[in-house]
Amino acid sequence: MLTHPETLAVHAGRAIDPVTGAVTPNLSLATTFERAADGTLPHGNNYTRYGNPNRQALETALTALEGGREALAFASGQAATAAVLQALPAGARALFPDDLYHGTRALVQEFYAGRGLQAEFIDQTNPAAVARAFQTPAQLVWIETPSNPRLKITDIAAVAAAGRQAGALVVADNTWASPLLTRPLALGAHVAMHSTTKYLGGHSDVLGGALVLGADAPEDFAHRVRNWQRLGGAVPAPFDCWLLQRSLATLPVRIRAQSATAATLAAWLAAHPRVEAVFYPGLSSHPGHAIAGRQMSSPGAMISFLVRGDFAATGAVAGRLRLITRATSLGGVESLIEHRKLAEGPGSATPDNLLRLSVGLEHVDDLKLDLQQALG
Ligand code: PLP
Repeated sequence: MLTHPETLAVHAGRAIDPVTGAVTPNLSLATTFERAADGTLPHGNNYTRYGNPNRQALETALTALEGGREALAFASGQAATAAVLQALPAGARALFPDDLYHGTRALVQEFYAGRGLQAEFIDQTNPAAVARAFQTPAQLVWIETPSNPRLKITDIAAVAAAGRQAGALVVADNTWASPLLTRPLALGAHVAMHSTTKYLGGHSDVLGGALVLGADAPEDFAHRVRNWQRLGGAVPAPFDCWLLQRSLATLPVRIRAQSATAATLAAWLAAHPRVEAVFYPGLSSHPGHAIAGRQMSSPGAMISFLVRGDFAATGAVAGRLRLITRATSLGGVESLIEHRKLAEGPGSATPDNLLRLSVGLEHVDDLKLDLQQALG
């Protein structure tokens, strides 16, 4: 019965409470759980850093949605990323995309590169560059598609196949697509990573992260990330898990509606005289359009576009919006816009005139009107 994502989103990890009959999960705030007289843990719960009923329920739901064998929930997306990096062998060589969430790049460069991680940033949309990079052994290939903020589309199946052949662990940051649009494990990734703060949470009110391990994720890696989750302790609070599980139920309808609005807006923006370029994989002009058509069930609800003008003029467009909020983050029910260069700071390779739009659940005509008055 639990075969379709819409059904899994509502039911996976949920059961009627046997004591009270409650149809929604109870919130279990206890940090510790009683042992039986013989020292065993009859309910399987020990201490909340190790596990908690709400975290287990969330992890079960995430496992089902991504089609994995187990999931590990973290206190943020960055904590989930750090867990992967912690689990790598000392001196590992790791390949990252050239366009990716700037926090991932900062974590790698500011912490791990100084401790022996050999990180290389390559254009994963260029098969020759990928083949060249794998001529030298690598322990990790990190995919992020669509990428943040340029929406570059990496062919997960192709890069995963090359990574596997080279003996690398293949991890795909699936935050922007969500498991509703892309299933990286089915395409060959060993691990799907999420900032659950975004589409999975969906309401800009809960921070979280997750790793979902595929059926053949190496057991030594699984052991190390599990251990890091418990010993490092960057775990989500029970209420955060509860909120996230509540949000999962509406993920399919949210993402469908947001993506439909985004597709309309992207086409409208592409025809706007004050817009220089639009990065949206649903547009046939996007270089990753064909790959996105194969690996995504819809092009999603994120759009980046270049304003005709300089840094200041681009900031002014963002500043004139009234309905769309100028704020960082994405994936919520409310539309957000960000002048990405300003957020990423000095050294960022993002164009001065790029605005990143996270399309929410508002009516498309209201969003268009707001963008029209701001673009002038
Ligand atoms: N990965 C991607 C693609 C992101 O966009 C973000 C945040 O914007 C993260 C990871 C980090 O997630 P968090 O902010 O939950 O730590």
